[in-house]
Amino acid sequence: MPHRQPAPLALALCTTLLLACTLPARSATTPSAAALELLEKSVGFRTVEGEGQVPAYAAYLAQQLEAGGIPKADIHIERIGETATLVARYRGTGRKRPMIISDHMDVVAARAEDWERDPFTPVVENGYLYGRGADDNKFDVAMVVTTIRQLKSEGFTPDRDIILAFSGDEETSMKTTRVLAKQFPDAEFVLNGDGGGGRLASDNTPLVYDLQAGEKTYADFDITFTNPGGHSSRPSGVNAIAQLARAIDRIAAFHFPYMRNELTRASLEATGKRTPGPLGEAMLRFAATGDTAAAAVLAAHPDTVGQIGTTCVPTMLRGGHAHNALPQSATVSVNCRIFPGVSVESVRATLVDVVADPDATVTTLDDPTASDASPLRADIVAAVTKAVHARAPGLPIVPSMSAGATDSLHFRAAGIPSYGVSALFMRSEDSFAHGLNERVPLAAIDGALIQWRTLLTELAK
Ligand SMILES: [Zn+2]
Repeated sequence: MPHRQPAPLALALCTTLLLACTLPARSATTPSAAALELLEKSVGFRTVEGEGQVPAYAAYLAQQLEAGGIPKADIHIERIGETATLVARYRGTGRKRPMIISDHMDVVAARAEDWERDPFTPVVENGYLYGRGADDNKFDVAMVVTTIRQLKSEGFTPDRDIILAFSGDEETSMKTTRVLAKQFPDAEFVLNGDGGGGRLASDNTPLVYDLQAGEKTYADFDITFTNPGGHSSRPSGVNAIAQLARAIDRIAAFHFPYMRNELTRASLEATGKRTPGPLGEAMLRFAATGDTAAAAVLAAHPDTVGQIGTTCVPTMLRGGHAHNALPQSATVSVNCRIFPGVSVESVRATLVDVVADPDATVTTLDDPTASDASPLRADIVAAVTKAVHARAPGLPIVPSMSAGATDSLHFRAAGIPSYGVSALFMRSEDSFAHGLNERVPLAAIDGALIQWRTLLTELAK
């Protein structure tokens, strides 16, 4: 069982009795009460794209940091369109290069009529805090800000600057992230509260901690055939829809080369040891040798197919314009999750080859950013292990590559290694990030504060 510090009485009642309860007015005398209060206030800011509320939320966080002892001159809010970035610098001795803590202040949209409770009114009930962003990503924002205040009040002087760099549109266009990623060329690494995290079993026993050190590149492509068209009573030899159908068939039958890197080898090895049967064996064999037969086993499983290379799947179709007309155009959208280190253009070129029809046009949509996986630095892995074990002794730390995408993508692309180190421990059945009735267990707060505190003091000493 994880070691937890005693919770304040009100929290303990809410979490152990599993009753609906309203917390009494608090003066936030303990760090966990302060963290919960900060989280509740955070949920109250409607930081959805287009609502213009991110700057107000940033101002609230700035005021919290200033009250906690970060000088006003070291806190900056930059407006970018209707959203903003927040940067706050906890100055150290400068013996080491700065480290960045990345989190995002925006949230995914939520329609109040679809929720059981108002998504932007924090509600504490049954041992959970409900609200949009309670999990993604305001939980870690609140834990980090509370930890910074705590360290400051204790007079802790880090050996490197700790820079909080909070983005304001991670869930949508990541324009603020692109700005932040260019602002700190001297930073040594990024700790991202929006990736990785602890997994709990149904009975709340910790199972594993995911340390995210890489993510696949998200990219969409359109494959289009265009024909002159004409009357459907006079079919010609070419038909855009028929051509498209053959192209889709070839894409569906194709698989990209199987790949491994330091990160996925470590990840498959650690997970393979805990996975029984042929799947676990295949993980271990592929991690060790790259064996193709083992890869085929992993390719057949939805949990592992994304870990062994680039994947591309047709996701949307459109074509034709009338029942009685030859189609003038037909398009399939293909969504790809590209293995770190593989360029977007090379994937587009592969799709051209696979379709093998000179009439096809293959277009890259938007402007996908590719990033390499971050090296599994011994000092980072050791610090994360120590921080996680301070709340959950002995818990396996498993390096992971996610299907993308977080703010880390842009920091990695800028050459700054980034590590997803969320301090949230959750059961999968409690995870409703991006969905309805998003919530976090109050019981996660104490451990999260221990973890962030240990991690920061360990890496900044
Ligand atoms: Zn997020």
